[in-house]
Amino acid sequence: MLFNDDPPSKLVGIARLAASSEVLETKRKVEYLELQTRRFIGRGSGRMRSIWTINPYRGCEYGCKYCYARYAHEFMELRDPELFERKIYAKQFQAVAFRAEVRRLKLGDTVWIGTATDPYQPAERRFEITRQMLEVFADERGLDFGITTKSDLVARDAALMVSIARRNRIRVHLTITTLDEPLARLMEPLAPRPELRLGAVRTLSQAGIAVSVLAHPVMPLINDSEESLDRVCAAAARNGASSFSAAPLFLKPCSAQVFLPFLEERFPHLVRRYRERFEKAAYLKGHYPEMVAERVGRIRARYKLAQGQPPEWPAQFPDDQLDLFPPLAKGPGSSGASPNGTISTLQRKVNRL
Ligand code: SF4
Repeated sequence: MLFNDDPPSKLVGIARLAASSEVLETKRKVEYLELQTRRFIGRGSGRMRSIWTINPYRGCEYGCKYCYARYAHEFMELRDPELFERKIYAKQFQAVAFRAEVRRLKLGDTVWIGTATDPYQPAERRFEITRQMLEVFADERGLDFGITTKSDLVARDAALMVSIARRNRIRVHLTITTLDEPLARLMEPLAPRPELRLGAVRTLSQAGIAVSVLAHPVMPLINDSEESLDRVCAAAARNGASSFSAAPLFLKPCSAQVFLPFLEERFPHLVRRYRERFEKAAYLKGHYPEMVAERVGRIRARYKLAQGQPPEWPAQFPDDQLDLFPPLAKGPGSSGASPNGTISTLQRKVNRL
């Protein structure tokens, strides 16, 4: 164990479980850990209540400066916002339990993968939890799938998605906030380059998968110009996307803790304006969102793309994220065994690396 041998007795629920999770691997500054979960499929919150949500990973290595999902690590008493990108929890995948949950879905249900964290982040290259879930979905029919990602790794699963699309609907949403590579590198330090994401748009759309490009979040005076959004939309259309959308930045306190210091360092002339605009609310209100909506609508019409926005943006972490098994009893000789006494699939995969 590299940390947290004995969970502090004060911790309860997910915080205690997170504290007792096995370290699977430490890669430079990133640790992958395995997290048990009672349910893989949860209900969305708010207006997403009618949607089933899946997030195979907690935390995200891409480390986008504006990421609003950082607060979910606070549930595990991990309050340093940077831990969100350094301690990545992979849900312990159990195909039998997952299939049982899938069987309870009804014809026409919508299932959204990646409502909070990226399902194709680097951890997926190793652990393939998203892929294993899609393999189960390939046997289903009559469901409506959405997948949101910033990773070109999504193209790896194009053939699997084609198979799913034979009896279900499936749409992939690729997030591309700018085509300006240096700017993308600043805002989304470890995410694949925009050009690579466009390559994934092309691969998927050539395979017959419906692809939307999302230019979320639109940040005032950073990537909100008509020229910048137009370039993203034009490239989306050129590479076969069928829809395009963009919505303004949403800055929860946990994301402001990272985003505002980032602005101070890289865009100091904008700090005062951002502080004033986001002082009272995480959402921008009034003229600005209306202006963005009008601008995006005009650009979309120029390239004859449809509106491809998820039902509500940004999504909140669903209820299932808190509904976990009680912590396992861990003795001094614990080997990271799963509840039935076997080493988990994930652990075995790590051992093979
Ligand atoms: S890819 Fe998404 S989940 Fe990951 S850090 Fe960026 S905004 Fe957050």
